[in-house]
Amino acid sequence: MDKIKIEKLTVFGKHGVYPEENVLGQKFQVSLVMYTDTRKAGMTDDLECSINYGDVSQYVKQYFDENTFKLIEKVAEKLAENLLLRYPLLEKVDVKIEKPWAPITIPVESVGVEISRGWHTAYVALGSNIGDEKAYLDEAVEKLKNHPLCQVRKVADYIQTEPYGGVEQDPFLNSALELRTLLFPEELLALLNQIEAEAGRERIIHWGPRTLDLDILLYDDCVIDTPSLTIPHIDMQNRDFVLIPMVQLAPYYRHPVLGYTMRQLLERLQEKNPA
Ligand code: ADP
Ligand code: MG
Repeated sequence: MDKIKIEKLTVFGKHGVYPEENVLGQKFQVSLVMYTDTRKAGMTDDLECSINYGDVSQYVKQYFDENTFKLIEKVAEKLAENLLLRYPLLEKVDVKIEKPWAPITIPVESVGVEISRGWHTAYVALGSNIGDEKAYLDEAVEKLKNHPLCQVRKVADYIQTEPYGGVEQDPFLNSALELRTLLFPEELLALLNQIEAEAGRERIIHWGPRTLDLDILLYDDCVIDTPSLTIPHIDMQNRDFVLIPMVQLAPYYRHPVLGYTMRQLLERLQEKNPA
């Protein structure tokens, strides 16, 4: 992706672990690499189509005036987040914070941290089969819409489906949604678990009845296998109630492990289990 760069913007701040740093302050150097598509600005010569580095520089100065943290890790993390939320055209940003005058007793040119943060695309499956199923799904969508680090881009139609996994129970209402998020996968899982818990979800029978089930189907092209999280969702290719909404949201999205698009996965499943 194209980049707009700001190098070694010098600002004054009072971040630091030592009390004297918080009182006296010191100079910091901030370098940013902002990833954005500059094609339109390049073709039109219109600043509205790009990110104004003058405005960004002023904002960085203001951010340093208004915030004091102990760690430059935190300074960088929060600055990256604020920039990504403030500039809609910014997809990803590398933030480098250096302290050329850090109070250590050995000569050093500078110390610093450099991080890379950006927007991610995630697909989340929704399901409910107890009580007012539509209200549970609506509420989950609403909570994700209201989360400061999530943007709900599209929601698939709600579909009624037969239960899966051999447990005798009522039909389900299922859907899926597309999210743009600044949350890391484990953080997104924690948020989804919290929304399930708020819906009164109890884990009694595996694959049993539930007020609300929220699963991460895909997160960019990431492949993750940890005890608490498997992405892509381990069983999505076998579930038509997942693939039907996914085909509506992103028919050409390719499963990063199996190599088939969502549409191809659904076709393969329907060939295996003709209706
Ligand atoms: P299921 O969704 O299979 O019916 P649960 O909703 O009870 O079962 O989830 C059980 C556990 O599955 C969760 O606590 C979570 O840690 C784990 N898990 C692993 N991968 C995922 C994923 N991609 N999305 C959601 N949960 C996942
Ligand atoms: Mg689940």
